Amino acid sequence: DTIGQNLARAVAAWPDRDALVDVAAGARWTYAEFSAAVEELALGLIGSGVGKGDRVGIWAVSCAEWVLVQYATARVGAIMVTINPAYRPHELAYVLKQSGVSLLVASKEHKASDYRAMVEEVRGECPDLRAAHYIADPSWDALLVAGRSVDVAELRAREAELSCDDPVNIQYTSGTTGFPKGATLSHHNILNNGYWVGRTIGYGEQDRVCLPVPFYHCFGMVMGNLGATSHGACVVIPAPSFDPVATLHAVERERCTSLYGVPTMFIAELNLADFATYDLSSLRTGIMAGSPCPVEVMKRVVAEMHMAEVSICYGMTETSPVSLQTRMDDDLERRTGTVGRVLPHIEVKVVDPVRGVTLPRGQSGELCTRGYSVMLGYWQEPERTAEVIDSGRWMHTGDLAVMREDGYVQIVGRIKDMIIRGGENIYPREIEEFLYAHPKIADVQVVGVPDERYGEVPLACVILRDPEETLTLEELQGFCAGRLAHYKVPAGLRLLDSFPMTVSGKVRKVELRERFG
Ligand code: ATP
Ligand code: MG
Repeated sequence: DTIGQNLARAVAAWPDRDALVDVAAGARWTYAEFSAAVEELALGLIGSGVGKGDRVGIWAVSCAEWVLVQYATARVGAIMVTINPAYRPHELAYVLKQSGVSLLVASKEHKASDYRAMVEEVRGECPDLRAAHYIADPSWDALLVAGRSVDVAELRAREAELSCDDPVNIQYTSGTTGFPKGATLSHHNILNNGYWVGRTIGYGEQDRVCLPVPFYHCFGMVMGNLGATSHGACVVIPAPSFDPVATLHAVERERCTSLYGVPTMFIAELNLADFATYDLSSLRTGIMAGSPCPVEVMKRVVAEMHMAEVSICYGMTETSPVSLQTRMDDDLERRTGTVGRVLPHIEVKVVDPVRGVTLPRGQSGELCTRGYSVMLGYWQEPERTAEVIDSGRWMHTGDLAVMREDGYVQIVGRIKDMIIRGGENIYPREIEEFLYAHPKIADVQVVGVPDERYGEVPLACVILRDPEETLTLEELQGFCAGRLAHYKVPAGLRLLDSFPMTVSGKVRKVELRERFG
């Protein structure tokens, strides 16, 4: 199926079921209404001159229109370029130019961001950009009006020509390890991934999925939107950007059965002063992904948020994204100690990063994945694509992992972050987790820096709980002595006020290495 064909199936099966609720806008659509709105926008895109393979950008906070753009671009055979609303003009210009966006749909403004002004600022640098339309603005209505003169038969003819292997989305990676890369994904890639993630959770038309996660990333648009609509479930958008109060309100009022988030979102919800006053009894499941979840948080999510079946996922933009997921009947140990096991129709293996041979279970090496979910490639970057997808179609993730005897996989860290001290492999995460226990330390990142004698040694970058306090290297080493193998004890210490972050909230270790290397 293409995404349009899959939506048509859902509409035929559940026309009167809720498809989409935008809580902030106070609006809701049944599948029949949603499909009609998608069709109206698809005609508008055709009327605005959008052809097959043209790039349509979406640079907006979460709202119903975002979801309409996702399905309308898929129906007309365009390629949607998803742009992080936290981007500033220089990042926006990079993405618009690199992918050649000709039509952009954007938020008008949100909080302190004036999107229209930022688009105008970069317009001169982006020769491909013909038109910009803003949500909740006359220019959005103009987009729909452009479709009034287009015959539905033209849309049908376009759809008949589409293949499920056609590209449908360019999605930029988070830029944690370098400059963001535009992963080009097909209908087949992301529709199947959404379907299998939803099926693993057991979604059906009775499910209502609360999505406080942003849509520009696979988490929202694939695991969320496609995961829900491919099973007839309803998407609930609690607020334009993450807001713990709005999220719990939405769960309560819309009787949501599923809630998504990265661990920090769940922590913010659990820590609300009035947390106990929300009725969350409708919740059954949800997805936690993106980074490891502390055991205590997971226990509270299961017990206090009623999410006994919460699912952990591992993935990356380049693989649509999910390749590993916990199952509904997994115990707490598997949900906190691992990122699950491989999804149906995907293969994973752990290889020696240098020799390339497959390693036995229990040994750590680079995780590789293969199957329908592997991207078509990085947009217009064949050399970089060849660096990560080998001739056997295996995607080299750059993540270090261990596959246990039971097939469940643990993520140990990223290869680029691994420190090699005199031939000894050191995983920064292990040292970081140990140092978190130090009473003066609020946050810590460990990176490898060059050393004449050992090649590389670990350096601890620390944010103190109390900025008035201080911490010496001797103190830190004393804390580690006898409790951490000697070669893992940090050889250097830097005190910082904050860490360099990507716009999606991941720490950029590469920058710490450059700064202190
Ligand atoms: P870039 O590729 O631009 O450096 P990025 O890899 O952070 O950025 P994404 O594709 O958004 O961009 O993130 C995928 C990465 O996130 C994975 O390769 C992995 O390192 C990490 N990750 C994803 N899920 C999990 C998880 N459940 N536990 C631990 N790490 C995870
Ligand atoms: Mg990556």
